[in-house]
Amino acid sequence: MKHIIIGGVAGGATAAARIRRIDEMAEIIILEKGKYISYANCGLPYYIGGTIKERDALFLQTPESFGTRFNVDVRVKNMAVDIDTASKTVTVSSADGSEYTEKYDKLLLSPGALPVKPPLEGIDSEGIFTLRDVNDTDLIKNYLNTHNVKKAAVVGAGFIGLEMAENLHHAGVEASIVEMLNQVMAPVDFSIAAYVHKHLLQKGVNLFLEHTVERFEKKEEKINIYLKSGKIISTDMVILSIGVRPETSLAKKAGLKIGETGGIWVNEYLETSAKDVYAVGDVIEFPHPQTGKPYLNYLANPANRQGRLVADNMAKGNTEKYEGAIGTAIAKVFDLTVATTGLAAKKLKLLNIPYQSSNTHSGSHAGYYPQSTQISIKLTFDPKTGKIYGAQGVGYSGVDKRIDQIALLIKSGKTVFDLTKTEHCYAPPFSSAKDPIAIAGYVASNIVTGQMPIVTWREMQAANPNEITILDVRTKGERVRGQFIVGSLNIPLDELRGRLDEIPKDKPIYIYCAVGLRGYLALKILTQRGFQNVKNLSGGYKTYSTAMF
Ligand code: FAD
Repeated sequence: MKHIIIGGVAGGATAAARIRRIDEMAEIIILEKGKYISYANCGLPYYIGGTIKERDALFLQTPESFGTRFNVDVRVKNMAVDIDTASKTVTVSSADGSEYTEKYDKLLLSPGALPVKPPLEGIDSEGIFTLRDVNDTDLIKNYLNTHNVKKAAVVGAGFIGLEMAENLHHAGVEASIVEMLNQVMAPVDFSIAAYVHKHLLQKGVNLFLEHTVERFEKKEEKINIYLKSGKIISTDMVILSIGVRPETSLAKKAGLKIGETGGIWVNEYLETSAKDVYAVGDVIEFPHPQTGKPYLNYLANPANRQGRLVADNMAKGNTEKYEGAIGTAIAKVFDLTVATTGLAAKKLKLLNIPYQSSNTHSGSHAGYYPQSTQISIKLTFDPKTGKIYGAQGVGYSGVDKRIDQIALLIKSGKTVFDLTKTEHCYAPPFSSAKDPIAIAGYVASNIVTGQMPIVTWREMQAANPNEITILDVRTKGERVRGQFIVGSLNIPLDELRGRLDEIPKDKPIYIYCAVGLRGYLALKILTQRGFQNVKNLSGGYKTYSTAMF
């Protein structure tokens, strides 16, 4: 059996190694247009910033070592330029410019994605870069080393854009971020992104939200970025991180079916519309397991998983079905960790799926053990059944393991009630006896069962203070320096039972405390003492004040 694999990094290299493990006798050829295979694209920003010191550390395998280990014919600087699915051949352009054809029994496309580069005036000026591969990395690193770069602007505040801003800052450069949306990290909800906004500003990053780039102009050593708002940012270097799109040029030329999102259409075996031609990674679209809608997912974990799975189908026939990915992603933004899985509220709104959400803030580990920090978790779920739709987390440590656990539950179709049953390993340095995800589960369960009606920060913001009573049950000391919702009545929780007559009974009552727990206790006191229409602010003042920051 002869396998040809186009693209030798995440999906392609994984598939090649797995095919070899299944079939020692197979002929396997990797065609890679670049100079490297199986390198750490996710590590590129950290090499640019200097956290990863040695360039060599980026290369998990050399073409030679991979070829020897797996007995694979690795052909770098060999670009596939045409596929004929009828004669089962691939035309290849080799390093010396000559072309040749190779016959295949099974073909895999894992050509990845291309950076989006809109046709803006001046976008090709010297000093403006995109970051996708080792070559881009070398160009950026070299520019930093050979030019007097004091300021840099990152256009686009996705995960990679933010990593670049941090790494440029780490390299001693003043970083600015320009983003068209009103928030960074488009997949997460605004209330979670707001923590990142605050943190970026605290770290000295200039944040230009709701600003669209109109054009660039190179003036001597400087690059001027003209924004639609009329603002001009003068900088020494620009990183474009506007997004990527599937690299489908070869697939289109070969007449493979392209899906509605622009990725290569594949069936559940990851086979394209042409028999014996498979595709994996950033280039494919696949139904989102939760929505059933075609979905592009530019992440390394799905690419690797698909690479392994497709190898089985290529080597043994179509036996392994791919279940799809739900968009589980994480980023380090300076000291913060932000992670997401499943469907955020904004996505559910777009899809017209009824949902409810909860916000909780819990210690990363026992508060009495040093260096405990808060993790903020936002859950989205079905308001009737409690089925978990999504989770987002932000904090300083331990965010990853919580979101990973919830991702597993979502993929298994579980509910917020199942969250409370999650067993976790506990000792003070690692967690609390009630883990943050158990707390999130308890709170969400209370919402689903109607035990704790909530008001969101947006509803609180939009409420007419004359028509409701906003009750702050924190202590007086917590209201210092304007840290309260304007117009709120302050009755600390421990005084509440004795001061009930101060609370009007003819208006809805929106209670808040610091994070939501005392608000819940106050809600229970009031509702059992005859007050009606009482709601607790989800996530308390912490969620509200961060979102309003
Ligand atoms: P790639 O790994 O991109 O490999 C595609 C290869 O195909 C390329 O080497 C390309 O040269 C080659 N190729 C294309 N066309 C041809 C052709 N015609 N002939 C021959 N070769 C061809 N994901 C995460 O989950 N977490 C992260 O932290 C993360 N960080 C990232 C940071 C950066 C800077 C980048 C660029 C990506 C990051 N990603 C991250 C995304 C992740 O790297 C990709 O999702 C993953 O590599 C996709 O795998 P792939 O095999 O589809 O494509």
